[in-house]
Amino acid sequence: MIRILCLLLFATNVTTKDVQSEISRALHGYTTYSESVEILARLEHQMPYENALDNAQVMAFKCWFSNPSTPNGINEYKKFLETAKPIIQQVNNLNLKQELAVCEANQEYTQGNYQKALEHLKPIINTPSVDEITSSKKLSIIALAHIVLNRIQLTKGDYQEAFDSAKTAYQLFEKAGNDYEKALALKEIADIHIALYNYELAIEQLQRAKLALTKFNKQEHYKVTDQLAYAYEEKGDLIKAVELYESIKKDVRRFESENGYAYILIKLTELNIKLNSLSQAESYLTELNTLSVTDSWILTLYNFTKSEWYLATYQLQAALTSYEKIAGQQQYWPESLKERYLNLTSQLAAATGDTSLQIASQQQLIALIKDKQQAIANNTLISARLNFNYEQQILEISRLEHESKLQQKLLAVAEDKSFWQGLTVMVTCLCLLLFAVYTFKQVRQKKYFEILALKDELTGIANRRAILNLKRSVMLQNKLNQQVSSLISIDIDHFKAVNDQYGHDIGDELIISITNTIVQTVRCSDRVGRVGGEEFLIVLENQSLEHAKDIAERIRLSVAEKEHTSLSISATISLGVIEIAPNETSEQAAKRVDLHLYEAKRRGRNTVFS
Ligand code: GH3
Ligand code: MG
Ligand code: MG
Repeated sequence: MIRILCLLLFATNVTTKDVQSEISRALHGYTTYSESVEILARLEHQMPYENALDNAQVMAFKCWFSNPSTPNGINEYKKFLETAKPIIQQVNNLNLKQELAVCEANQEYTQGNYQKALEHLKPIINTPSVDEITSSKKLSIIALAHIVLNRIQLTKGDYQEAFDSAKTAYQLFEKAGNDYEKALALKEIADIHIALYNYELAIEQLQRAKLALTKFNKQEHYKVTDQLAYAYEEKGDLIKAVELYESIKKDVRRFESENGYAYILIKLTELNIKLNSLSQAESYLTELNTLSVTDSWILTLYNFTKSEWYLATYQLQAALTSYEKIAGQQQYWPESLKERYLNLTSQLAAATGDTSLQIASQQQLIALIKDKQQAIANNTLISARLNFNYEQQILEISRLEHESKLQQKLLAVAEDKSFWQGLTVMVTCLCLLLFAVYTFKQVRQKKYFEILALKDELTGIANRRAILNLKRSVMLQNKLNQQVSSLISIDIDHFKAVNDQYGHDIGDELIISITNTIVQTVRCSDRVGRVGGEEFLIVLENQSLEHAKDIAERIRLSVAEKEHTSLSISATISLGVIEIAPNETSEQAAKRVDLHLYEAKRRGRNTVFS
């Protein structure tokens, strides 16, 4: 009998210890999400435990994993609460009751019920004489309550209050000796700075958090790195952002669903397009094509990026197809995405020649940017005041104490000081205004250069880089869709003689006139680019050799029939035509089409050779 009792006691003890230590490991960042879910499933499967406290602990732990986002999920969550509450009430343990309350508050917050959330938090936030509490569990629960409170305040735009709550949480976690949660509190502070557009300070906090999270599970580490990459991107340091996204790509692939991995690839594509590294962007897009993206938000971002890619590579029709898939959902978007949308709309409108849409979207874009600059100007000061460094704050307090002893002296020079303070405020405002104007100009300049980088200055059509990139991406499409495309290479005949006889300006006019003739003769989905002085390349996507020959012949005739330039001179061109072979490289195709052009020249010019 005694043996049985001993065994029972022993078994119960081991179980209690197991339950406690497993939950603690998961809650303190040592396990990945799926490992935590596994732990929960195992612990739940063993319920009911003999020790009522174990049952209550598992219930409180489970609460953190019930994340209702659909009406169905909310109902299930409510049912869960109905079972969890009596189990927790039964043990009469204040810590567990409060943990459940914080968790409930967090759920109410995510569903937008701030008032209900605050009601759950109030008794915990107002715990009397916190300074005297030493229990690390108790301190952590109060800190968690402050984290949720900080989120509510941030959503409401009460930045100072949110910052104070996050700071309190950080200090309580520190007192509790909780490095993992301390790092999470730094992430919350970074979120406040991001909301205030102060990316420098956000980056500072995120770097501290990243460092602290290195010793915990890999998922926390890539999550904070993702946030850091975003802050760098918003700050305008795209190269650093690419580097960070690259660094977490493997881990995201390992731990996240295809949607999660697709998100990283979409970001990498988007940033590389912005950096004009089109072949790099193309390789990410190729990988993206192999994933099945189902999440509607990720799909929106995917279509955005695809449309931008097609636009950058002059595939207008494809750009419009992807664009149509994203239009009409703007009301749910953050400001940054609206800005991106207007940018894309105005560029597509420019490409399709829809001037009124172009102007309208540009005006909306300017209004949006102006609002943002206003917000930046208003918020930078607030954000700077929230610069957070706990150690520094302690030094600050002792410095202030020291200063208070010098109060008498300070009073004597008070008048003088207030003058300087006034001047400082004025200078700061002026700097902010200049900064706002400067940034606005930068944005406009950047757009201008982006367009310049792909357009030929003389004729306004695609330049060498743009048309060669397009050729490469069409060749990739050929492979993916098993379609055939063709190339036409064009060179003006005896162009040197035109320059010599009429001068360089008339030569330029002739180039422009022939460009216009070519562009008017082909369809808008056929892309024309100027690859050299008086040489052109046409990429005919999805067109066989037969079609390409007809088009080349039409172009040759149109140019020969027309009178060009202000001096009404006549001119002819020679054309080489090929159909791109399935296993040909971009360079091989270029060489072959040029050989055909030389052959057309050799056969007496004003000729199409295919
Ligand atoms: P061919 O029929 O064999 O092509 O004879 P061509 O005289 O056209 O010979 P080629 O293609 O070698 O000559 C190109 C000339 O075009 C040389 C250069 O002076 C002139 N050129 C190059 N770029 C420009 C430009 O932007 N404007 C003008 N006006 N001339 C240019
Ligand atoms: Mg030439
Ligand atoms: Mg020539």
